[in-house]
Amino acid sequence: MTKRVILIGHPVAHSLSAAMQQAAFDSLGIDAVYELWDRSPMALAEAVDELRGDDFLGANVTIPHKERVVPMMDRLTDEAHVTGAVNTLTREGKRLIGHNTDVPGFKVALDRLVGKQKMPRQAVVLGAGGGARAVVYGLITDGFQRIVVFNRHLHRAEGLVKHFGRHAAHMDLRAMPWHESIIESELAKTRILVNATSIGLTTDETPIPAETLHGDLMVLDLIYARTRLQRDAAAAGATVADGELMLLHQGAAAFTLWTGQPAPLDLMQAKLVEARASGLRSAEGEATGAPADGVLAEGVAADGVAAD
Ligand code: NDP
Repeated sequence: MTKRVILIGHPVAHSLSAAMQQAAFDSLGIDAVYELWDRSPMALAEAVDELRGDDFLGANVTIPHKERVVPMMDRLTDEAHVTGAVNTLTREGKRLIGHNTDVPGFKVALDRLVGKQKMPRQAVVLGAGGGARAVVYGLITDGFQRIVVFNRHLHRAEGLVKHFGRHAAHMDLRAMPWHESIIESELAKTRILVNATSIGLTTDETPIPAETLHGDLMVLDLIYARTRLQRDAAAAGATVADGELMLLHQGAAAFTLWTGQPAPLDLMQAKLVEARASGLRSAEGEATGAPADGVLAEGVAADGVAAD
């Protein structure tokens, strides 16, 4: 029986994940098909329940459902529990297990961004959704000592901070109101800036004005597109990366969870690049397009030298 793996989101018109996952299944001779389900929040519970059927290997969950799906799981892995966000589902019999492979995906992207430099200890995070939760947890477990989260709706950032509770008790994790002057003053003290908002995804808007950026920054934009933030940051002399590596590595980890096999990383990355070149838009929302000038692509280290 052909197995099914589902990407649930709203909307999910096209998918970079489908391109890389289907190619991975096919290359390893795994009889599975990666399908896209566009489900509104109202229809989510019923869709998730359907995944308990024998024909399903598992699923990915994307915007805007990563937090909403948590109480629908029968069990959560530690990372899904601590972040309060699920991006990957597996099935054990009729039971659904919630995982968060955005966390390891983010860590690979952060490591690549920082390269051979010493890992900074302070970060500014823009956004407080499911993606931001994976980012904050990745930063906490990487030993960051101060993380400031800015979000349009402050209460959501405060909820995120409260959620991490004792996991952040040893360090300074705080939510701050989205005011340009406060963001600017925090950025002046930090080297790591992560954009985990969806600003720039579908329009050429940027979450913060170019003047707030400086050349010592290392900027990771989770959006897999050539955003204005990335262009502005590169123009300011900052080191910049988009969401490609995170997308690749969260997908590779999910593939292994579903199949028990190592993911064919090179093939998956080639499929991402191919899909991006053909103008596909990711179901994760990452609009596609070539990296901006000065923006790191996969295989290119932070100093601009080709990496391993
Ligand atoms: P959510 O829907 O959970 O969160 C969206 C976030 O963006 C919230 O913080 C929201 O703020 C903010 N936001 C959206 N529109 C605006 C706006 N107009 N002005 C200010 N803030 C805004 O989405 P996710 O966390 O799942 O995803 C966020 C982004 O990260 C997406 O672009 C997604 O593609 C990307 N992502 C990429 C991954 C990768 O592998 N590369 C993995 C995970 C995410 P508010 O709460 O105030 O509404």
